[in-house]
Amino acid sequence: MIDTSAFQGKTASYYTLGCKLNFSETSTFGEMLQELGVRTVDRGERADICLINTCSVTEVADHKCRQAIRRMVRENPGAFIIVTGCYAQLESEAVSKIPGVDLVLGSNEKAHLVQYLNDAWLHRNALREQGDEVTDGLHAFQSVKTKDIKTFQPSCSKGNRTRYFLKVQDGCNYFCTYCTIPFARGFSRNPSIASLVQQAEQAAEEGGKEIVLTGVNIGEFGERTDETFLDLVKALDQVEGIRRFRISSLEPDLMADELIDYCAQSRAFMPHFHIPLQSGSDEVLKLMHRHYDTSLFADKIHHIKEVMPHAFIGVDVMVGCRGEKPEYFEESYEFIRSLDVTQLHVFPYSERPGTRALSIPYVVSEHDKKLRSKRLLQLSDEKTHAFYAKYVGQEAEVLFEKANRGRAMHGFTRNYIRVEMPAALAKEEFDNQLITVKLGDFNHDRSALKAMI
Ligand code: SF4
Repeated sequence: MIDTSAFQGKTASYYTLGCKLNFSETSTFGEMLQELGVRTVDRGERADICLINTCSVTEVADHKCRQAIRRMVRENPGAFIIVTGCYAQLESEAVSKIPGVDLVLGSNEKAHLVQYLNDAWLHRNALREQGDEVTDGLHAFQSVKTKDIKTFQPSCSKGNRTRYFLKVQDGCNYFCTYCTIPFARGFSRNPSIASLVQQAEQAAEEGGKEIVLTGVNIGEFGERTDETFLDLVKALDQVEGIRRFRISSLEPDLMADELIDYCAQSRAFMPHFHIPLQSGSDEVLKLMHRHYDTSLFADKIHHIKEVMPHAFIGVDVMVGCRGEKPEYFEESYEFIRSLDVTQLHVFPYSERPGTRALSIPYVVSEHDKKLRSKRLLQLSDEKTHAFYAKYVGQEAEVLFEKANRGRAMHGFTRNYIRVEMPAALAKEEFDNQLITVKLGDFNHDRSALKAMI
């Protein structure tokens, strides 16, 4: 039982690190606290409660989390400090010892944030009544082992004022050798299709027009609920009001041909895919314990382009992982160059404690990682520009994002081309609206095509 009177009029500040999923979950934490009567701080205002939602994708991410926690403690003296997210799950005890931290919640416990907060808050108040000022934090932590992470925290958040991010799945059963995410988020799980449709309908009622489906390994949707990701896509496609759906990322081996065919003729699923490749060398894919080879990946790209020639395809590539000898990188580069894809998301490999990749003897130097990243990023620019250039002079429907008046507006076409509406043509009535424009030349920094009305 929670006595909300203790929280009335209190303020909270949130800080999120990492992926879209984390941002989406933070927004749900905000809603949970709002229901308790807690208001989000205004700029420059001190908070009574600080929540830091952490990431642990790389060593750098861990470092940034610790920095963010210390900054929040410093800037909000006396505030109740809660830390959750992947880093909090993997290093619960160590995080709880950071000066000023009151409560650390692992991946299973974050769904019960309000209950844990209430209990710890009352405990801190009781200590204060006994004369203990608790200036250094309670240092409490709650987390379970990976195999016991079972809860699913639903979340559907409003992103950049136009798009919604609907969490459809959490966790992963793959355990790629370089990755800690399954340890931090647990095994794959998902809610029912009916509940997700309801969340999408709610977003539509609030005026949402576009929803991005997010998760850790979305293709595993339904493994334990006897539903499939395709069933989910078909059900969401019927949600009136939502004009566009995008799928944040799908493992290639879980991207069924039926799903690609369905998207090609669907009402609202956009010709836009994001597929993690990680390496274009079969040797490296084996070392990574990925579930496909380059020939399967190439088949998926061909299939998408056959039924959706206009599709935008983003591809994740990791460079410099252990075992990526120079000849394997060259193979990978040539394979990626041969693919009809639009953009590369390049990530340098980062050593993670506890991962099996650490037993692979060949190590790539930081210098070589940088050189390889640079080459791939250049290849990515060439591919993206060539893709954009094909659409100059054509008409396209753009969903414009809300912008400050007097500034250029931006939005995306159905196939994810970024479009810029110059400030002189931008109007308030274009906010969150689908407008058909003629696509002009590249803008000043070549990050978008200019809209002509
Ligand atoms: S599929 Fe591999 S890389 Fe992706 S979250 Fe699962 S283990 Fe990590």
